[in-house]
Amino acid sequence: MNDADVPAFLAAHGLPGIVDLHTHFLPEPVERKVWAYFDEAAAHYGVEWPIRYRVPVDERLAVLRGLGVRTFAPLVYPHKPGMAAWLNDWVADFAATTPGAVPTATFFPEPDAADYLAKALAAGARVAKSHVQVGRYDPRAPELDDVWGLLAEAAVPVVVHCGNGPVPGEFTGLDVFGQVLARHPRLVAVLAHAGAPDHAEALDLLARYPGVHLDTTMVGVAFNGADRRLPPDWAARLADVADRVALGTDFPNIPYDYAVQLEAIASWAAADDRLGDAFLRAVLVETPARLLALGSSAHSEHAAETS
Ligand SMILES: [Zn+2]
Repeated sequence: MNDADVPAFLAAHGLPGIVDLHTHFLPEPVERKVWAYFDEAAAHYGVEWPIRYRVPVDERLAVLRGLGVRTFAPLVYPHKPGMAAWLNDWVADFAATTPGAVPTATFFPEPDAADYLAKALAAGARVAKSHVQVGRYDPRAPELDDVWGLLAEAAVPVVVHCGNGPVPGEFTGLDVFGQVLARHPRLVAVLAHAGAPDHAEALDLLARYPGVHLDTTMVGVAFNGADRRLPPDWAARLADVADRVALGTDFPNIPYDYAVQLEAIASWAAADDRLGDAFLRAVLVETPARLLALGSSAHSEHAAETS
């Protein structure tokens, strides 16, 4: 399946539009740096990573609309201190002026983290992003204790890249993030990339903590052998947590068609009788919409109307 097939695919499954919990839009100078990093992917990740949607923002938004992505979370993340509050302001503006984009937030372990995160939540941020690998920080840092507390209290989900893929970082690993969960058991944490490559451990965290979810970003795709790293009983195990899996894609920074991700999810849905179309609808629409609290504010109604 390629992108041209997506509208027919969605129609065949009775899905008028989908919700993507994990995309990236960044201020242009930051985006340029991120893309320069992907240009050197062979050195960093041992594989070429040609970005499929390396086009101007307007064209990217048109691609999402054409694919039936009705609402999406543009996730931002800092790689150094003193950057997160600025990213939060930028993404608030971006979401306010971009149909379909919900406001998001991020943070870094630094003294004012809880202050600027509280401000972002008060301003309407629907989801936060923590990138433990790129940020190279310890999610257990004392400056983040109030941050996790605020998110848990507000029941605002946080998409956490805390797994050891594509390459391990000093503080990656689900065991490390598991300690944050032990301290903040009500946290609505979405394990980005379904915890790749430690998918079985990710599922263990879901079994232990009812607020923990998975996103599908780059999971089960052929690129870089990601499909071969899934546990053999993946679909069966998803049946136990079918309402805690949300569409994420890493659009635009993926080296393949967006459709490839949808095809992977559809293959899991088809692999177990307990999944099927209900699972597909949950992953592509219902669960990301619930996590983003769509339908509960003027903003999301606006987003739905204009996209
Ligand atoms: Zn991402």
